[in-house]
Amino acid sequence: MDSTQQLGARYRVEGATAAQQEAVDVLARQFLLSDERLGEIIKEFRRRMEAGLASDGTMLKMVPSYVVWRPTGEETGAYFAIDLGGTNLRVMRVTLEGNGRATLLHQKFALPEEAKTRTLFDFIAQCVETFLDDHNMRPAATDPHLSFGFTFSYPIDQTSINSGTLIHWTKGLDVPGCVGRDVVRLLEDALLRLGLRVKVAAVVSDTVSTLLSAAYSDPAAQIGVIFGTGTNAAYYEDVTSLAKWKGADPASGEMVVSMEWGAFDSHELATLPFTPHDIKLDRKSLNPREQAYEKMISGMYLGEIARNIVLWLADQRLLLDGRSSTILNAMWALDTSYLSSAAVDDSPDLSAIRQVIEKTLNVPDSTLVDRRIFKIVAILVGERAARLSAVGLVATLTKRAEMLNRPITVAIDGSMYEHYPGFDRIMAETASHFIPESQFKNIRFSLARDGSGIGAGVIAMLATQHQ
Ligand code: ADP
Ligand code: MG
Repeated sequence: MDSTQQLGARYRVEGATAAQQEAVDVLARQFLLSDERLGEIIKEFRRRMEAGLASDGTMLKMVPSYVVWRPTGEETGAYFAIDLGGTNLRVMRVTLEGNGRATLLHQKFALPEEAKTRTLFDFIAQCVETFLDDHNMRPAATDPHLSFGFTFSYPIDQTSINSGTLIHWTKGLDVPGCVGRDVVRLLEDALLRLGLRVKVAAVVSDTVSTLLSAAYSDPAAQIGVIFGTGTNAAYYEDVTSLAKWKGADPASGEMVVSMEWGAFDSHELATLPFTPHDIKLDRKSLNPREQAYEKMISGMYLGEIARNIVLWLADQRLLLDGRSSTILNAMWALDTSYLSSAAVDDSPDLSAIRQVIEKTLNVPDSTLVDRRIFKIVAILVGERAARLSAVGLVATLTKRAEMLNRPITVAIDGSMYEHYPGFDRIMAETASHFIPESQFKNIRFSLARDGSGIGAGVIAMLATQHQ
């Protein structure tokens, strides 16, 4: 598609003035990406993957996870897990029942601002204590330690299956004194301060645990992906391709690599289609010039991009008659979940969107045209995210092209993937344009709900078995 010529009826706003329509067309041209453009980005992505496998200190960190095993699905036993995403913290007991089945006992805690900026590890330890006490599972002084898998979804330099130093914070966390330190030690020290007999058997990213949760029930699982607060992916790599790996070669000959793909195109701002709205977000973020890909794709940022667009339109008096509100003026006021509800609002008066504009954002008296434009903004931002997410996916799928000649499962977790309407369909459809049909039919995209938690239990089991 040549997006400059054929914007299509979808972006025509009934009742809009010429100036409003022109502004919407500008947005559509910025946010619609041709396959040709995506193809170029995929090539650059692949180049960055190769660089990251070859040496340290590259844009894509391609972190060796020390996970060199695959579960058979027949393992049994109870294991514990902590899943730290960017929005929620979950503590759970994962009971592996064999036959690829696992059951979950879990408790969810919202990360308070204080934990995000100061007390993170003490907060996690307190949540573990609450969970164990609430379920009468706190080990007595004479009991053995409980083994935990720790899903820590921030880039670390992994130094063993249960140690790794933080490279930098992402996704809005900013806890001082952690960069360069072993996050497992930080957590175990906090647990010790509460007198809890708990050991961290493994630390993994949410992508690695999502992959392993799928692998427990599905031997075809090769790739784990997250589209939640942030985005990342992990896959089984042949160690001979992991040139920077200095350790002993694992018996299996393979290792899961956490790509840290959210960092794609950081610093250089060269390849991705940055609009002024992206640049405004980036400049005001906690990590300017970092995580460029993540900022166009994931839940933490999409609402904010849309808010920037809404203000850009309002400031030209092309939306809401130029009015704003204290709420709408504040950064992060528009949660990405509102884009999901706006994108599927098909009611005659767009009442869900009216609710968001008038109640959530506190700007009264929206017109139907305002709401129609708002809906297009939500669609443009969400669909660009879905199309761009196919870039990383295609680059990863074609990295080991021989894998595509038999059934292969991509396990995906995260609220953006689960809830943004059509995200899964658009992502898969876009990917299909870059992979031959005979191979594409072998690929199964599977929602691994709770995968980032269950997989941490699976990895705790594997690490304990192999220690
Ligand atoms: P985590 O990243 O902590 O594992 P999630 O996978 O639940 O957590 O992702 C949380 C992110 O998803 C938040 O940034 C939130 O804004 C976004 N989100 C939550 N609900 C929706 C929704 N319905 N549609 C799109 N994004 C959503
Ligand atoms: Mg998660």
